[in-house]
Amino acid sequence: DDPSAGSFIHKSPTIDHAVIRTKIVMTVGPATGSPDVLQRLIEEGTALVRFNFSHGDLDEHETMLAALRQTGRIGQGVALLGDLCGPRIRLGPLAESIAVRVGQPLTIHRQEACDSGDRITTNYPRFVDDVQVGHRVLIDDGNVHLLVTATQAHQVECTCTRSGVIGSRKGVNLPDTPLWLEAVTPFDFKCVRWAIRHDFDYLALSFVGQAKDLKPLRAFLETEGSSIGLVAKIERPEALAQIDPIIKASDALMVARGDLGVQMDVAQVPLIQKDLVRRCRAAGKPVIVATQMLQSMIHSPNPTRAEVSDVANAILDGTDAVMLSGETSVGQYPALAVHTIRRVAEHTEAYLRHADVRPPKSMVQADPQVRHAALARGVWQMVHDLDARALIVASQTGLIARLFSNLRFHVPIIAFSSSKRVVRQMALYYGVVPICLDLPADGDPAPSIDRTLIRHGIAGQGELIVLVGVTGDRSEPETIDGAVVHTIGQTRNISA
Ligand code: PEP
Repeated sequence: DDPSAGSFIHKSPTIDHAVIRTKIVMTVGPATGSPDVLQRLIEEGTALVRFNFSHGDLDEHETMLAALRQTGRIGQGVALLGDLCGPRIRLGPLAESIAVRVGQPLTIHRQEACDSGDRITTNYPRFVDDVQVGHRVLIDDGNVHLLVTATQAHQVECTCTRSGVIGSRKGVNLPDTPLWLEAVTPFDFKCVRWAIRHDFDYLALSFVGQAKDLKPLRAFLETEGSSIGLVAKIERPEALAQIDPIIKASDALMVARGDLGVQMDVAQVPLIQKDLVRRCRAAGKPVIVATQMLQSMIHSPNPTRAEVSDVANAILDGTDAVMLSGETSVGQYPALAVHTIRRVAEHTEAYLRHADVRPPKSMVQADPQVRHAALARGVWQMVHDLDARALIVASQTGLIARLFSNLRFHVPIIAFSSSKRVVRQMALYYGVVPICLDLPADGDPAPSIDRTLIRHGIAGQGELIVLVGVTGDRSEPETIDGAVVHTIGQTRNISA
């Protein structure tokens, strides 16, 4: 149990108007098994719950999902993200872990149909054919390094160049080896079917190398009539060379710093993160910064100062979301980890609000719909000058909500849609509080909006809000129709 749990401020299950703008993605696992823990993690500010298909089996995920649904919070600002393994290479089963030291020779054998666990193998059938003398074999997030010294018909000889422990089914990175792997594996498709059946909102694909890697997944979802959003995980150097087409082909990006720091020189990761966040903002796509954000909290109730700075810096970079992996899935302090990340976000966002970062004109000029983006920037100024309490937008498809999210308002963006899927997907957008509501097609929607804002504690009688009118739907892209200032409780004639 999380020993710090008693110290949490209890939060009401309704939407808190002071909710943080940065979205928290947390990964479920053995440490989050009970509905009680999950409830606390959500109350602390989780917006996306990540199921990592690299660990556990689908039955275990099913049990976790049932516990999660018991919280009643899915769709109430909380969405589901499935993380597909993609072409991840792993060691085969090992009967026992092996401690290896620098200089020690090691043999990796061709995979056999029935692995006994006595020999080191991998799940990549072409391993022995593809690696060459001089290539690096990095095991367990690069904790163990091997160098290939000889290849034979059915085995590869290596020397250990970084000591560590080799355990069963640990991840393997081959940064020097061109690989012949399908971008989406048969196991991934099994997970995709499961995710569709369980109404997931996003699917992340690991080891995306180029835009076309996402195609089979997109095509499959289309055939199944599913509108699940696709997140490209950026963790290979090849992907960086193709980054803009990848961003275009995906619905969101994840800066997967764990594998990125193994596949490339780890010293390059901070600037890559900044570049990826900048490119996503320019393209209007949400971005998640992931991995080791509060790594020491897996075992300690206190994060390191460097970790806290890392979270703050990701937010200052302009990320939409920050992600916790082991901290929540297997950590000793899952709720405290979410609590910590939320507090860092609160403080960092308070600074951003006071720093008053007006969306730059260049951002508008870079938008393909310049006039549209200019209107949005005008709305930003309006909200700012009037000190309005919130921006309200009826964004049936989420498109306009995304546009506003990207401009980083200092007040919450309350985005209404009658589509439950769109409402859940908007949970990833920075600053957006998604609410499922069908606004009246005719007449004044203000009374209905007022009631909802008051009920959720977002704004009170007499307070100013800015309402944005939106036209368009699924058949025709949403556009901004205009914006009006509204005082909560006053009747007026507007179309939202
Ligand atoms: C990563 O490598 O940073 C990552 C998020 O992927 P995974 O947790 O699946 O290894």
